[in-house]
Amino acid sequence: MALKVAAIKEAAPGERRVALTPEAVGRLRAVDIEVLVETGAGAESWFSDDAYEQAGATVLDADDLAKNADVFVSIGRPDASMVAALRPGQTVIGLLRPLTDPAYSAGLATAGVTAISLDGLPRTVSRAQSMDVLSSQASVAGYRAALTAATVYDRYFPLLVTAAGTARPAEVLVLGAGVAGLQAIATARRLGAVVRAYDVRPASAAEVESLGAQFLRLTSVQAGAGEGGYARALTAEEQQAQQDELAAHIAKHNVVITTAQVPGRRPPLLVTEAAIAAMAPGSVVVDLGASELGGNVAGSKPDETVLTAGGVTIVGAGNLASDAPAAASAAYSRNVCALLTHLVHDGALVIDLADEIQAGIVIAHEGAVVHGPTNALLNPAAAGEPSTESATPDSSSRQDTGGDAANTDPANRGRAS
Ligand code: NAD
Repeated sequence: MALKVAAIKEAAPGERRVALTPEAVGRLRAVDIEVLVETGAGAESWFSDDAYEQAGATVLDADDLAKNADVFVSIGRPDASMVAALRPGQTVIGLLRPLTDPAYSAGLATAGVTAISLDGLPRTVSRAQSMDVLSSQASVAGYRAALTAATVYDRYFPLLVTAAGTARPAEVLVLGAGVAGLQAIATARRLGAVVRAYDVRPASAAEVESLGAQFLRLTSVQAGAGEGGYARALTAEEQQAQQDELAAHIAKHNVVITTAQVPGRRPPLLVTEAAIAAMAPGSVVVDLGASELGGNVAGSKPDETVLTAGGVTIVGAGNLASDAPAAASAAYSRNVCALLTHLVHDGALVIDLADEIQAGIVIAHEGAVVHGPTNALLNPAAAGEPSTESATPDSSSRQDTGGDAANTDPANRGRAS
């Protein structure tokens, strides 16, 4: 019998994406997976129930879905009513944020549900790249960040020479040149802006310059590359020096787009109140790091646009991927298909914690939390000691490889995906 994988309707307010698109149905059938879809799950991404049915999926209401599916895929976390309906042996796959809310995953473990969280994927493992939802969603968010900035900014992005005179191009500064930042740079360049960018990882300079932008080299901060291609957290002194030196650059730009994240930490504050006060009226700041934990920009609020007394518009853009739900869902869905193809053999989900990819993403299995970093948060007293909860022959390797997973959890980094 084929494994039944269900795409649920997202629970988070304002979330417009869906984890599987109709295109996934054929791909998954080819590996003996049957697709179920909750009624209306794709509507906000313009994928109708009919489109899923025509592709060969079965559309069901939430109750029937809970009864019939073996695996539930989502973008965010299933809500409490959905979790209450789950039974032992079922599996949930999504961005579960185990490192900011380990109790949620512990609850799934207690219910006997296998929890797989895509934010722990080891991103530098080349065979995991096709499953990398953090990159696919960050790329959409970076693109939308540049478009959002261009729309909110009350002047042109490109240089325009017209009979009515010449309009100077916008000067755009992108802070943080990871996946989202590079996409924001490329998009702002395509719109004709003059773009500069800064990142604490010196390796990003070549990538920035290859997109036709200028890389800012700060003199006050040492290189900040950490593990796994990510940035390290700066010391308080470094952070202060960075903010001070950046402020002078920020004041010279019309638009600032911030995308800086440090795994396991609140997003670093890069744009202070003083820096915003020094910007010209009409300037625009888009903060992709905006979250309940705080963002890259003083005064930014998630999903809110704030106009300062000095005439600077601050857009708190914590979930911009959801603003382009059709593109974001299509990419997420392909990532999920790649993951399921990796996990499913002969119509069954095969959990193997010795696998480097699974060690990063399998959080709960067979009634226990099996992910080392999540266990360390749940049992701080035992942290550093072998876990008693999952003391199986596999658990030591899980503990080790899971260390990287802790560093890749975007939830701790304060964003939805
Ligand atoms: P991220 O979302 O964790 O952070 C965004 C950017 O913010 C990073 O470039 C980081 O260096 C920067 N940053 C953090 N603190 C900063 C500060 N104080 N000041 C300025 N910038 C700061 O990063 P990401 O987009 O997920 O990518 C992280 C790394 O992973 C990059 O090196 C990227 O190329 C790499 N990556 C590799 C693969 C792969 O090998 N397959 C896939 C995806 C990403």
